[in-house]
Amino acid sequence: MVLKDDPSLMFTNAGMNQFKEFFLGNSKPKYHQIADTQKCLRVSGKHNDLEEVGKDTYHHTMFEMLGNWSIGDPTDSSVGYFKMEAIEWAWEFLTEELKIDKSSLYVTVFEGDQADGTAKDDEAYQIWKRIVDENQILLGDKKDNFWEMGDQGPCGPASEIHVDIRSPEEKLKVSGKDLVNKDHPQVVEIWNLVFIQYNRLANGKLQELPAKHIDTGMGFERLSMVMQGVQSNYDTDVFTPLLSEIETITGCAYGKTETIDIAMRVIADHVRAVTFAIADGQLPSSTGAGYVIRRILRRAIRYGFTFLNTKEAFIFKLVKVLVFQMGDAFPELQKQDTLCENVIQEEEHSFLRTLAQGLTLLDQMIDKNKGNELPGEKAFELYDTYGFPVDLTSLILEEKGLTLDEKAFQKALQVQKNRSKDAAASQTGDWKVLLTNEADQFIGYDTLKADVKLVKYRKIISKKDGELYQLVFNQTPFYPEGGGQVGDKGYVESANGDVTYVIDTKKENNLIIHFTKQLPEQIEKAFTAVVDQKFRALTARNHTATHLLHQALRTVLGAHVEQKGSLVNANYLRFDFSHFSKLNEEELKQVEALVNARIQEQLPLVENRNIPYHQAIENGAIALFGEKYGDEVRTINFGKSTELCGGTHVQNTAELWHFIITQETSVASGIRRIEAITSQVAKTYLTDKVKAFDQLRKMLNNSNEPEKVLQNLHDENFQLKKEIESLKKAQAKNLKGDLKNELQEVNGIKFLAKQVDLDANAMKDLAFQLGGEVDNLFLIFGADVNGKALLTCYIDKKLAKNKQLNAGQIVRELGKHIQGGGGGQPFFATAGGKNPDGIAKALQAAENFIK
Ligand code: ATP
Ligand code: MG
Repeated sequence: MVLKDDPSLMFTNAGMNQFKEFFLGNSKPKYHQIADTQKCLRVSGKHNDLEEVGKDTYHHTMFEMLGNWSIGDPTDSSVGYFKMEAIEWAWEFLTEELKIDKSSLYVTVFEGDQADGTAKDDEAYQIWKRIVDENQILLGDKKDNFWEMGDQGPCGPASEIHVDIRSPEEKLKVSGKDLVNKDHPQVVEIWNLVFIQYNRLANGKLQELPAKHIDTGMGFERLSMVMQGVQSNYDTDVFTPLLSEIETITGCAYGKTETIDIAMRVIADHVRAVTFAIADGQLPSSTGAGYVIRRILRRAIRYGFTFLNTKEAFIFKLVKVLVFQMGDAFPELQKQDTLCENVIQEEEHSFLRTLAQGLTLLDQMIDKNKGNELPGEKAFELYDTYGFPVDLTSLILEEKGLTLDEKAFQKALQVQKNRSKDAAASQTGDWKVLLTNEADQFIGYDTLKADVKLVKYRKIISKKDGELYQLVFNQTPFYPEGGGQVGDKGYVESANGDVTYVIDTKKENNLIIHFTKQLPEQIEKAFTAVVDQKFRALTARNHTATHLLHQALRTVLGAHVEQKGSLVNANYLRFDFSHFSKLNEEELKQVEALVNARIQEQLPLVENRNIPYHQAIENGAIALFGEKYGDEVRTINFGKSTELCGGTHVQNTAELWHFIITQETSVASGIRRIEAITSQVAKTYLTDKVKAFDQLRKMLNNSNEPEKVLQNLHDENFQLKKEIESLKKAQAKNLKGDLKNELQEVNGIKFLAKQVDLDANAMKDLAFQLGGEVDNLFLIFGADVNGKALLTCYIDKKLAKNKQLNAGQIVRELGKHIQGGGGGQPFFATAGGKNPDGIAKALQAAENFIK
């Protein structure tokens, strides 16, 4: 479900995604005729059903697409087939195999489109006419009956099959024919037969494809609804176990109240999408595809919170039910059930906290709000900064008799969307093809320099990077980004010696694409392609280190450790893996030591490029879930570490020189991350450390035992601090005695105004100590502390009351002399100011209050 090799998509949203490279002609399929089931997720981009899900009964976020495919020449029946077979077989399958009543089926045919210059699909119409009553054939426009995978690329007319599952009485009242493609929940499309026969160019024009293909897609859950004779996908056994578990957990009943039903459907649907995504390697996160998954889960949490009154995490508990249902067919679920539960539970906790926080903020906004309408910008702030859903804001406002300025909210949202759209906007030109029938072969395991020919190129313009060229060569030593390893950099040299830099290399639908800022000169002639050797070598070392690290982690922590992602570049490596707790210092040391031992052993690379997948697995190779592997795979061995890997590696582990773990953190619940460095970077790291250490030694008079010296200093410092403290105490005691002698008697009050230059706390202590020993005391202390003026006023509690004196007022008054202010209680108050020169005046003025 998670796509890696296609920059235009985050998730598989149609059955054809996995076959795109064949439709585009980038590579040749091993089989020309295929039938399959494909997990799809329709939550972003061109296919986005998210807002429908739960509200209706037949759109899901994640669903299984059943399909049959013909890829290749349909005129040769040993290779491919086209419209006639696709239509006849679909009909045969539905009506004879599955025995669906023929009279309940309707089919649609493309009516043609003037702007595109396409005619009605009469070929399909004629084929259908031989099979079904003409009354059951409808014509459809481009929106429903012309399928395109994106703005550009292979596309073609489609023929859909719809089924009417209403009761006979209802069918009599309104003909099913009038309900096709009208959003009726019981007259739904179940199968779409797409006839790929055009290519959409960058300028929007259509071009006939030399090779025509069949692409069909049928929703498994909708078919189940028909076959099980129920009226909603959620009444099939795909969903009933989940719904009944939700009933048990929440105490709510399904099928009685519309809002509760919607919430239950949302949760039953979304837990599938999120669990499958996590098992396929996509964890919820704050960016990109991870953020899409987080948003799906948050939608479910929020529906539970509002409509099922669930204030604690509970969705994670549904994982067990789902794994029990689907685990046999999808073993990746079984293998990762605990991980899925943990991740979902933690996401639930954190979003429930966000919701609680948002509710408080919203309450404050409502309190401060004037009038009956909350400004849209406020709701947007809640949504954007705190992730608080706007529909929840509306609902709460409604409950309090207020409304939301929806228009202003939408406007703010649109501004933000446009901004990110602008940033991501790009224009992709058509491929200019120079050579046909030339494979783009990767030869970079064996060489970093090769003579190559340009097969095709195109220009792309993106807001982010400006104008770039994408070049495809007949063969290339450049490694395209993949398996966590970054793409190679380097240059291509034209026949006339002109040099064009390759700034990155990526794989797209199985095509190796080189990115340059200009088109090289003399494109018809041969080039020399040269990979940046240093960059590659540093990267390869880090890649090999990830394998050794993986093995070390499994040895130290156990076989439950599985790779969950990695990044390998010239500077460092990052390795994510499943493990339940933070690694302690001992474990990290052991892991580091094991990797360094493998480096010491100088293990040679043992590479096997074409070994059957099953044999590799039997030999103990570790396959990564979510990676695509062919029948034949490449295995990489260093000693006992065996992994399936397409990346580039060192010839001998000695090249790594040394391995240092620089960080260990958490990525998500149950997933840890280690960052590490090797070779040159590790050398610099250690050299810097030694330098810093030497500096330290110098500061410690070149001691040979700096730790000892430091420890002594530390101890001495501690001792000195203690001494200072006791000295201060003694001093204060003396001061207290002195001050007592200085007290004056004014109108029966013991009065003293004096500059003592203590800090605020010490003054307070002193004042209260004196107060405890002397009755009827009135004190004013002044202090100049680092250029700031402080005043402290203490008045005996009884005195303050009897003579109606107020320390707070007094310091405020006196504070004027020191250009400051203050306050406090009637018996004790302090003031601060920026003019220490005024302290004397303030103290002088103090006596006025009691005279
Ligand atoms: P609809 O108009 O009902 O949204 P669609 O035109 O988007 O369907 P296609 O893109 O042609 O559907 O996909 C082929 C088949 O996949 C459909 O006939 C249907 O059975 C199934 N399907 C499509 N979208 C969904 C979905 N969100 N949930 C479940 N099944 C779906
Ligand atoms: Mg749709």
